[in-house]
Amino acid sequence: MTTSPPKAMETVTSVARLRSAVADARRANRTIGFVPTMGALHAGHVSLIGASRRNGDFTIVSIFVNPTQFGPGDDYDRYPRTLDADRAICHGASAQILFVPQHEDVYPKGDQTRVRPGPLADGLCGPFRPGHFEGVCTVVAKLFGLVQPDVAYFGQKDAQQVAIIRRMAEDLRMPVRIEACPIVREPDGLALSSRNAYLEPRQRGRSLCLYQALNTGRDMLRAGASVNDVVAAMRERMERTSGVSVDYVSVVDPDSLEPVTAAKSRLMVAGAIRIGSCRLIDNVLMDLSVDRE
Ligand code: AMP
Repeated sequence: MTTSPPKAMETVTSVARLRSAVADARRANRTIGFVPTMGALHAGHVSLIGASRRNGDFTIVSIFVNPTQFGPGDDYDRYPRTLDADRAICHGASAQILFVPQHEDVYPKGDQTRVRPGPLADGLCGPFRPGHFEGVCTVVAKLFGLVQPDVAYFGQKDAQQVAIIRRMAEDLRMPVRIEACPIVREPDGLALSSRNAYLEPRQRGRSLCLYQALNTGRDMLRAGASVNDVVAAMRERMERTSGVSVDYVSVVDPDSLEPVTAAKSRLMVAGAIRIGSCRLIDNVLMDLSVDRE
């Protein structure tokens, strides 16, 4: 018996070619799975590609560093751009297409429409990154329009982003299912992020205080501590780490993202810190109805 060699991944830089490849896949009755990214790919991104491939999807990964989700002092200019390495990673993860749009493909001449999220964008990262989630919704809506996926895969690391995009897809009646995939971490617990590349060795060690504080919070909630005490203890844990400033730490409902005042069964403990020029976010989900000690 002869088996055909695995088909090489195709890098697509034109919208016309993207549309014809998607049309071919649809004619072959394939489900279109989509993994939008900003590149500098790591094992977190690979897990999303893997989820799509395991579902049997014809898998399209996009790389586009989206200017509208960066604020004026943010890291748009120095955001890591590693296309050759990313191409190898996508190929290794068996994606069918790597879509690398040009700026004008996403923001055509005269572009002026924006997608503004609702109150889900008001808490957590919202106040610290004005306009960020509007930029995210706008680019994801545009990419959905270009790719027209059946399923789109996002990481739970950006939990607020997934919640907002799920809401957007529902509210705008977009025919796409949103799948959230678990956070991939380094062996010591640091959540993988393209921005970890900014961390100097000493900062890398200190960055762990975020995940450690979230775990402390989870353990205290399991042991029955009050939400106020938990938040204070997590903040104290991080603030005593030199070089770290805390943007926020919060215990929220994982669906509404509203802060909770009293522990209930399903909770998300979330935080964001700054170390040097690097901003890190992380969260842990918990269900007290099954995991109270
Ligand atoms: P980005 O390239 O940072 O825009 O991320 C692209 C996608 O990868 C988003 O859906 C992220 O939530 C997801 N992602 C980033 N880091 C991780 C991680 N450590 N684990 C799982 N998913 C991740």
